[in-house]
Amino acid sequence: MDRYAVIGHPIKHSKSPIIHAAFARQTRQDLSYQALLAPLDGFSDTVRTFRADGGSGVNVTVPFKREACALATRLTARAEAAGAVNTLTFRDDIVVGDNTDGVGLIRDLIVNLACPLAGRRVLLLGAGGAARGVVLPLLQTKPTILTIANRTEARAHELRAAFVRHAGQVLFTAGSYQDLDGWEFDVVINATSASLENDIPPIPASAFAPDAFAYDMMYSAGDTPFLAMARDLGLTRLADGLGMLVEQAAESFALWRGVRPRSAPVLSRLRRKLASSS
Ligand code: NDP
Repeated sequence: MDRYAVIGHPIKHSKSPIIHAAFARQTRQDLSYQALLAPLDGFSDTVRTFRADGGSGVNVTVPFKREACALATRLTARAEAAGAVNTLTFRDDIVVGDNTDGVGLIRDLIVNLACPLAGRRVLLLGAGGAARGVVLPLLQTKPTILTIANRTEARAHELRAAFVRHAGQVLFTAGSYQDLDGWEFDVVINATSASLENDIPPIPASAFAPDAFAYDMMYSAGDTPFLAMARDLGLTRLADGLGMLVEQAAESFALWRGVRPRSAPVLSRLRRKLASSS
């Protein structure tokens, strides 16, 4: 039986084992998938041991995505651009590093949520690891505007500078939350970890177009603080990041197994489970 795992710190909360087990049942693939807690200074040892024990690949989560990028001996273009890896595949002597977070977000928005990005004004809040992973895929959808806003303004500018050569016709800007005054966006994506602290990025209400779509990469049983704020502003098109989580997993599964699982039934089962556990 082929073995896979997700490695992180902490890891108990991870839904990846449930998601991959559901994909395996659905596609009749014979595999096991476990959650592995790595010590903060022990990521590469954990990977090495799992591989030596016959592991075929791992997903990587907080805080090891950059370390996974350094550990890979070959990177896909999207992982190289993101500077972060969430999927490692062990192939003979090679360790391939990929990043499926970006494609997971785009697929969730465009396919699952019917929220097209081409020709739209898109605002990305945050400039951490999650934001870095989605900038290139977002630019590739050809919005008219992509703006990055971050609490630490310098990090927003750094992130823009890293990707500006991919901007093409997209008006690609970066700045602080105060800089958003006078700008309006059709799609606002929260890639900050503010919701984890029950906080909201200080985005002016005027930044949301009247029929804007608000997306929070974080997920929870009810509205996240960011989505609650958007709802209070009268917005009705809202989504959290559970779909992104399932879609990035589906992409990893397809890379490893050569078969793409259907994500919709797994997402609805997970949503029901999340609601009933609250
Ligand atoms: P990082 O720690 O790398 O970055 C955190 C970002 O949030 C920074 O831009 C930081 O700003 C900003 N931030 C933190 N607190 C606040 C606050 N109170 N107000 C405003 N901005 C704040 O985290 P990640 O990028 O790895 O993760 C971000 C979020 O994305 C998390 O909620 C994570 O759960 C989610 N995520 C979801 C995925 C999914 O599949 N659904 C996949 C990956 C991530 P500053 O630079 O100023 O510190």
